[in-house]
Amino acid sequence: MSENNPREHVIMMMLDTLMDEPLQRALEEESLPAFQFFMEKANHYYPDVVAPFPTMSVNVESTFITGHYSDQHHIPALAWFNQKEQRIINYGTHVIEQMKLGLSRCVYDTFYRLNNEHLNPNVTTIYEDLYQEGKTAASVNALVYRGPVENELKLPRLLRLFVPLDRTIPTKGPSHFVYGKFSKMSPWTKYSHVWNKYGFNNHFSIQEFTYFVEQDMIPHFSIVYLPDHDKRVHKHGRMDLKGIKQMDEQLQQLLNAFSSWEEALERNIWILMGDNGQATVGENKEQALVDLRRLLEPWKITKLRKGVQPDDQIVLGMNLRSCFVYSLHPDVLPLDEIAKKLQSDARIEVIAWKEQEWIHVISGDKQGTLRFKENGNVKDVYEQMWTIEGDTTVLDLNVNGSKLSFGEYPDALKRLHSCLHSHDGDYVVCATKPGHEFIGESTPHHENGASHGGFHNDDSLIPLLVAGTESQPPFLRIVDLKTWILQLTRELKERSE
Ligand SMILES: [Zn+2]
Repeated sequence: MSENNPREHVIMMMLDTLMDEPLQRALEEESLPAFQFFMEKANHYYPDVVAPFPTMSVNVESTFITGHYSDQHHIPALAWFNQKEQRIINYGTHVIEQMKLGLSRCVYDTFYRLNNEHLNPNVTTIYEDLYQEGKTAASVNALVYRGPVENELKLPRLLRLFVPLDRTIPTKGPSHFVYGKFSKMSPWTKYSHVWNKYGFNNHFSIQEFTYFVEQDMIPHFSIVYLPDHDKRVHKHGRMDLKGIKQMDEQLQQLLNAFSSWEEALERNIWILMGDNGQATVGENKEQALVDLRRLLEPWKITKLRKGVQPDDQIVLGMNLRSCFVYSLHPDVLPLDEIAKKLQSDARIEVIAWKEQEWIHVISGDKQGTLRFKENGNVKDVYEQMWTIEGDTTVLDLNVNGSKLSFGEYPDALKRLHSCLHSHDGDYVVCATKPGHEFIGESTPHHENGASHGGFHNDDSLIPLLVAGTESQPPFLRIVDLKTWILQLTRELKERSE
């Protein structure tokens, strides 16, 4: 058995919407004892790890826990169109949107189908792999958590007044499974009321993990997800420092649960990371928000409440700064026609669709066309091979002989390729430039704030801090972290009982 780290556990703090630039500024301008401590003790700090596209939490989490992009894990984004069932799946962008789609179905999609049906059963999660190796694991408040252990979500009475669902929903999670009030481990009830979003908040996540520390039951690997900062950045913009300060206070609380901060570091490997970034959305609503219903006129778009009607032509899967535009009848309304229409708006920076093995890319902002496919003579910085034809400036690619690196769109080819192979259907995926966001029927919007879901560096790059090991991930992408963390857990010291 390999064993060369004197530490016993790997603890990963997933800090929603943590970005390098505001973190650096906060470290200069604010008092952040916990972040300061981790920064000083860090073996590695990377400002720019690549998140998958679309940059939405469920896709990011699925990519992390499976170690694959969405072409393998099959969770395309927060909102997508299920061709087989002819309906839009929405794991929770906006409660009004969900009400229109049918609240109980949305709740069931999020609580049950996301983990137990949609997440591809043919790929394993980090929790399943750890279990195979005889190791324990915790998921605290992550949305995607599929594991080997039978569990159940308990639905509170108040919620059941609105959604006709059973009192419990069976599900499978890791050995230590916390999912808000619906599955908790501590006996404490604070921070889990309806007005606390049933426990999906930073305080509750910290409280539950503190319980593991106090009970001396930290598993080999834990993800502790702190969701709150996302909303602050949406509202106050990329450089919001207050949310970072709040997370620092919560990290202090967690460190204080150990007999000392030094001990917390001596017994554990710590990984602190974001999940996705956010790009600025401009002040002027008219200019900042790209209304797809107007842009796609006169085509008939499916209404959320009505569902697909016989004469509908288009369905929208809205993911803030990106969108899936589905053609219901591609023989009559082909994808390149939809793409051309999208191209007429200069605020849309990337428009891509699949045609057999080729991915076609155009832009509303740049001239030229580009197409690419897997395999070929060009090798990118992640050692993936491609055939590329056309104008490489469309995706800001730097081709140097047979070598390829990326500019504004990190891991551009694999991220587009996987996104366009993530689910069945005929669709174009598009993303707006920083400064903008898509809107459709009752989607949330964040003018004079920030948003994500897009393809750009601003949405896609997150910081990663590692303390307690010299080991480094093979590439700086979220998709590459699972294998690395499994390796870290194999090197841990056996816990003395
Ligand atoms: Zn968000």
